[in-house]
Amino acid sequence: MTSADHRITGGCQCGAVRFACEELGRASICHCRMCQKAFGGFFGPLVTAKGVVWTRGEPARFRSSNRVRRGFCATCGTPLTFEVDGATDIDIAIGAFDHPEAIAPVIQVGTQGRLPFIAELAGLPELEPEERQKFASYYDSIVSYQHPDHD
Ligand SMILES: [Zn+2]
Repeated sequence: MTSADHRITGGCQCGAVRFACEELGRASICHCRMCQKAFGGFFGPLVTAKGVVWTRGEPARFRSSNRVRRGFCATCGTPLTFEVDGATDIDIAIGAFDHPEAIAPVIQVGTQGRLPFIAELAGLPELEPEERQKFASYYDSIVSYQHPDHD
């Protein structure tokens, strides 16, 4: 969203796949077992996107069921899409957007698969300052190869 137009942008971790869309619909988290696997996470964070264009590369797809294909970057593996056969809009992984902080989920679905500790995650303890300090030089030494959050 740094360019002069008002497109909403994002992409994979390595930058081989970039996208833009015009408008976002409902944002959700899906707890189903297939989303857990596809994202390698506790749930799948997805938002419906209208007018998606692939501005660099295009996702590879895995057909995860008879109704759905899931897109991902073939180079770096970032999960990117949830595409229902015949639908005009696709869902895109919220974390892949350049500004995920602007896309708050408003509903949870697939709750039959919800992991039992989900409700406690936000209350987990954080590292104490002394403990953080122990890793400070390590963190300072990291050079990121991740594509930046803009085109
Ligand atoms: Zn990539």
